[in-house]
Amino acid sequence: MPIQEKNFWSTTLDSPAVPVSKELPDSVDVAVVGAGYCGLSAARTLAKRGVKVAVFEAETFGWGASSRNGGMVLTGMKLPVPTLINRYGKDVVRKMYAASLETIDFVEQIVSEEKIDCNFSRCGHLEVACKQGHFDGYEESAALVKREFNHELRIVSKNELLGEIGSNIYFGGMVDETSAGLNPARYVAGLAHAAQRAGAFLFDRTPVISVEQETKNGARKFRVQTSRGPVTAREVILASGAYTTKATPALRKKIIPIGSYIIATEILSNHLARELSPRNRMIYDSKHFLYYYRLTPDKRMLFGGRAAFFPETENTVRQSAEILRRGMIDVYPQLRDTKVEFVWGGTLDFTLDVMPHAGKIDGMYFAAGFAGHGVAAATWFGSKLAGVICGEPNDIPFDGIKFPSAPFGLRSGNSWALPLAGAWYKILDFFT
Ligand SMILES: Cc1cc2nc3c(=O)[nH]c(=O)nc-3n(C[C@H](O)[C@H](O)[C@H](O)COP(=O)(O)OP(=O)(O)OC[C@H]3O[C@@H](n4cnc5c(N)ncnc54)[C@H](O)[C@@H]3O)c2cc1C
Repeated sequence: MPIQEKNFWSTTLDSPAVPVSKELPDSVDVAVVGAGYCGLSAARTLAKRGVKVAVFEAETFGWGASSRNGGMVLTGMKLPVPTLINRYGKDVVRKMYAASLETIDFVEQIVSEEKIDCNFSRCGHLEVACKQGHFDGYEESAALVKREFNHELRIVSKNELLGEIGSNIYFGGMVDETSAGLNPARYVAGLAHAAQRAGAFLFDRTPVISVEQETKNGARKFRVQTSRGPVTAREVILASGAYTTKATPALRKKIIPIGSYIIATEILSNHLARELSPRNRMIYDSKHFLYYYRLTPDKRMLFGGRAAFFPETENTVRQSAEILRRGMIDVYPQLRDTKVEFVWGGTLDFTLDVMPHAGKIDGMYFAAGFAGHGVAAATWFGSKLAGVICGEPNDIPFDGIKFPSAPFGLRSGNSWALPLAGAWYKILDFFT
């Protein structure tokens, strides 16, 4: 069978699609742009508190990164802890790290409260070292994380690594037992159902075309122009991630969209699956231009990476299948004769400082920049923004940190310069 250019996770959806709200209300308390984890989690929290909220999604619910990702529910942030401490100081980073741990508990709580059947499991993650120098840094990192954040990371020497992964190309690893795995498409579908049950209005195939502020009788409002017509809203949440469009130009200037691609093999025998990943971890390597991989619940090897830096098109998806297959065989020669059945791509929302950000932009709430940590983080940030709108104190440690704009060529929609970013990552891998 030829490789299907299709998101494997979408083939696992069996619950009925989320029914779409019919009538566009004239006004709502909060309008949310984008129905991924961030927008739907915000809508769920708002609706549960009696706030009238409508979510507008340009495509189908969960269509963006939220249904296509690796399903790794990861602790920590993209940047190494010493870099974070240098940049923001210990006190702020302590709060950021604590938030990153809280995000995992929050996903687990939602899955359990809303009974979302998405194979959530606290299987832990394993980072594997591609160079001896990377492994040498693990000891210090683990000690720093223990000392500053009281969080345990376990170092795995090269000799012990076969107990964690059936590959001998790495120099050792580091395990965090707190991380989890899930089926991302089932999770985002479950979130949409939960938001709707709580009373949120959900509109799919309804792009937001523009948002304008207006003041009437001293009261400030937003006029949200959608493809179905206008809606007024007291507040707006931008939850459009890497897919942010010209409709919200200020946010678009801040986002660097980066393509990431995934292949999934045919179903493996139990014996082979156990050999490749004895503890069923979420695994990623220590490079900048990294590979991430895991077993799916039905025991396929799902193997992802930034095979091409352009956001996904038919061409980049097809080229990525072969690049990723070669990468997978370098890690696991045992898979040389295993068929690849699926390949797909998605777009990650990076920022210039590689940090997640939240707060207000042009008077609207936003959260973005989750990069490869968005499954847990976007869920948590969405709900936190909802809490702030409901009058809770704003204790989001990522709000208020400096948020640089992306250089023109790297912004959403201007993807001609992205291969330069790719080349830069490859150079860093060569020298670090
Ligand atoms: C291939 C891949 C693998 C990944 N792997 C992992 C992983 O294993 N673990 C992890 O934690 N993270 C991973 N990520 C990142 C994670 O998926 C994202 O950070 C997360 O899904 C972001 O959620 P979101 O709700 O902010 O945005 P999205 O899920 O991207 O949703 C944004 C939505 O907004 C809609 N939209 C945009 N503009 C408009 C508009 N004007 N009007 C209406 N709708 C609009 C889009 O159509 C889109 O559906 C991965 C991402 C990709 C692409």
